[in-house]
Amino acid sequence: MTRHPRKALVIGAGIAGPVAAMFMKRAGIEAEIYESWPYSTGIGGGLQIAPNGMHVLAELGLADELIRQGSIAESFDFYSQGGKKLGSLNHNMRERFGQPAVNMCRATLNEALVDKAWASNVSVFFEKRLVKIEDRGDQPVIAYFADGTTAEGDFVIGADGVHSAVRRHVIPDGPTPFDTGLIGFGGFVPRAVLGKREIGQRVETTFGQSGFFGYGFCSNGPNDGLMWWSTQPSHGMTAAAYRIRSQEEIRQHLRDFHAGWHDPIPAIIDAAENIVVTDTLDVATLPTWSRKRTVLIGDAAHATSPHAGQGASLALEDALRLGRLMAEGQELSVTFQNFELDRRPRAEKIVALARRNGNSKREFSATGAWIRDHMLKLLLPLSSKGMDFMYAYNPRAA
Ligand SMILES: Cc1cc2nc3c(=O)[nH]c(=O)nc-3n(C[C@H](O)[C@H](O)[C@H](O)COP(=O)(O)OP(=O)(O)OC[C@H]3O[C@@H](n4cnc5c(N)ncnc54)[C@H](O)[C@@H]3O)c2cc1C
Repeated sequence: MTRHPRKALVIGAGIAGPVAAMFMKRAGIEAEIYESWPYSTGIGGGLQIAPNGMHVLAELGLADELIRQGSIAESFDFYSQGGKKLGSLNHNMRERFGQPAVNMCRATLNEALVDKAWASNVSVFFEKRLVKIEDRGDQPVIAYFADGTTAEGDFVIGADGVHSAVRRHVIPDGPTPFDTGLIGFGGFVPRAVLGKREIGQRVETTFGQSGFFGYGFCSNGPNDGLMWWSTQPSHGMTAAAYRIRSQEEIRQHLRDFHAGWHDPIPAIIDAAENIVVTDTLDVATLPTWSRKRTVLIGDAAHATSPHAGQGASLALEDALRLGRLMAEGQELSVTFQNFELDRRPRAEKIVALARRNGNSKREFSATGAWIRDHMLKLLLPLSSKGMDFMYAYNPRAA
C-alpha cells in the first residue's frame, strides 16, 4: 500500500493552479506552485466567469470580492454588422443558477487567486519553467526547471495551460496545440467611450460578414471599465507577428477590418490602448489525462477555444473536483482515474460546443452572413436552452 501523498507540485499559477493548490491544502496535502513567468500584475484582457465557475470562487470565499471588482453580466445580446438586434440569451443567471456571470479583468482574477493561495500558506515560486518530470518507482517525483533547479514531491498537477509541458510528460507523442484559423484582439477602454449608449449589464456582441466584436463592462474603473474583444480570421498571421507591430498599426488594422460596423465599435477601436493579441488555439482530445503520479487539469487537459466562455470555469471546476477526490484518500491512480471519468464527458461536450461557436465567426459571403443572421434569430431561443447545462452545474454540490 502506498502512503498517502503529502506534497503536490503544481505547475502553473494561472487559474487552475492556485485553486488546485488551495483545495489540496484543504485535503491535508502540502502544495507548492511553480510558474514560468515572473510575478506580474495587470496582465491580459477581460473574461467572463460563468455561474458554474463562480460557485468555485464562492467556495474559496472570493465570489463577493470579485463581483465587487468586476461587473455582473445580465445578458449576452447579438447584433448584425449593421446594428440590427438578432437576439439575446443568458438572462437572470443568478436567479436560475445561484451565481451570476461576472465580467472581470483576467489580472484581477489571477491576482486574487495568487493572493488567496499565499494567504492559505501555499508557496508560489515564479520564474520556474518546468522542462522535465522524472517519476521513478517509490522515489519522490522530481520536477526540473529551466534555471537548473529541481523540486521534489509525491505527485504533480499539470495546470500549465494550452502549451503544457506536463502534457508532454503524460503523453510524450501526444497532440500539440493547433491554430484554429482565428485570431483574437482585446483590451479595455474608458466607460465614457460608449457616449449616450446605455448598455447596463448587457454584453453586446456583433457578428460581421467576417469576424465578431464584443464589449461589456468589467469594472468600475473609469479608464478601463469597458472590456472589448475582436475575433477574426487570421489569414495565416500569428499573434506574435502582430505583437511586433506598433499599437497604432494594430489599431489601424482593426479600424480597417471593422470599417462600417455599427456604433460604438469604431469609437472603441479608436480609444483602444495596450491591445492584447492572442492566437485561438485548440488541442485534440487526449487519450489520457494522467500518467503514474502526474495528472493534468484545466487547459492542459482539455484546452478550450474561447467561443463558449467556459475555459476558465472548467479549470476552476477541475481544481475543486480534484481536491475533493484527493480528500477521499484513495490510491493516486484510482483518484486520477475517477477524476478523468468524472470530468472528461463534461469538458469534451463544452470543448465541442466552443468549436461549433467558433465556426460562426469565420468568413461568410454576403448571402451566407445574411442566412447565418436569420438562422441565429430563429435558433437563439433554442440554443439558449441547449447551453443551460454548462451553467446549471454546481461543482460544490457535485
Ligand atoms: C482571448 C481569450 C479569451 C478567453 N475568454 C474566456 C472567458 O471569457 N471565459 C472563460 O471561462 N474562459 C476564457 N478563455 C479561456 C481561459 O482563459 C482558459 O481556459 C483558462 O485560462 C485556463 O486556465 P488554466 O489555469 O488551465 O491555464 P492558464 O490560465 O493558461 O494558466 C497556465 C499557467 O501555466 C504557466 N505555465 C505554462 N507553461 C509552464 C511551464 N512549463 N512551467 C511553469 N509554468 C508554466 C503559464 O504561464 C500560466 O500562468 C479565454 C481564452 C482566450 C485566449
